[in-house]
Amino acid sequence: MKTALVCGAGGFIGHHLVRLLKASGYWVRGVDLKNPEFSETAADEFLRLDLRLPENCRQAVDLSDDAPFDEVYQLAADMGGMGFIHSAECEIMTNSALINIHMVNAAADASVGRYLFASSACVYRDQEIGEDEICEDDAYPALPDNEYGWEKLYAERMAFAHSRNRGLEVRVARFQNCYGPEGTWQGGREKAPAAICRKIALAQEGDVIEVWGDGSAIRVYTYVDDLCNGIHTLMRSDITEPTNIGSSELISVDELVETVADVSGKGIAVRHVDGPVGVHARYHSVARIESTGWRAHFDLRRGIEATYPWIAQQAKGRSASKLAD
Ligand code: NAD
Repeated sequence: MKTALVCGAGGFIGHHLVRLLKASGYWVRGVDLKNPEFSETAADEFLRLDLRLPENCRQAVDLSDDAPFDEVYQLAADMGGMGFIHSAECEIMTNSALINIHMVNAAADASVGRYLFASSACVYRDQEIGEDEICEDDAYPALPDNEYGWEKLYAERMAFAHSRNRGLEVRVARFQNCYGPEGTWQGGREKAPAAICRKIALAQEGDVIEVWGDGSAIRVYTYVDDLCNGIHTLMRSDITEPTNIGSSELISVDELVETVADVSGKGIAVRHVDGPVGVHARYHSVARIESTGWRAHFDLRRGIEATYPWIAQQAKGRSASKLAD
């Protein structure tokens, strides 16, 4: 039986990835500061560890007398949507860098089979609306739009240095906006699809919701099942260069709002307000991951149909408990 370690298994993508690995027949250890928030982990073993500390990273990769882990997925990060990314720069650059430095060292020391680092499309520079698509190599010369992106780029380089100098077999996946059920939907760390779903779930027919920016920013939104399949595919592939994983459906923020409103069945008006929107546009090639045969199967409409009811249910629960207080 293959063994896998998922760091960040208490988080949104890590929790779903553990499920996929279990369904694929792996023995899985999950590690995180916290347990998954919305349902039990599917991992065989779950350790609560702070991965900023080197001794905890060594414990996470240690399988005692057994052979080293076949696969390590490093998803743990101090993470959030644009509001968080622009307000917690020092925390992100400190905490995530410490996790990545110590985890990659521990994985190389333990001679694990393969090490996948969860990077981000935030390593790329800003793009203008209507620009040509850029591919993975265009991350250089580097000009990420925010400190979160700079930390990801540094951690990618750490992983590749360990590949060149210590023989660690490395995969680097650059994710593009992921959404789905059991993701953070309130509290300031939620991303745009979850925030829009929550606002519309809490709105009444005909209400006005506030949306950051002028609504024209272009994004790619990736449903969590597609992303986890892409991560697993990349890990098993021979691709040793950074690889974008994401849908290729281009969506403006206003189209995202329209889709959620449509799925909710509510008539909603929008007021555009100032806020941390992030880049103007993202047009990224997914040709490299698609060369494996992987494809995104969820378009935005289908993904929101799977996500909105879950967030609406959570929001309803929150409203009911507020009323009871
Ligand atoms: P998440 O915040 O839900 O999960 C990250 C997990 O890391 C959390 O459960 C958190 O508790 C854990 N963590 C943080 N500090 C830790 C520490 N010191 N020790 C142990 N665990 C710690 O985020 P996510 O959306 O699941 O993202 C997973 C990974 O994918 C992250 O590396 C993120 O940067 C990357 N990513 C996500 C997206 C997205 O759209 N969600 C896009 C690009 C990249």
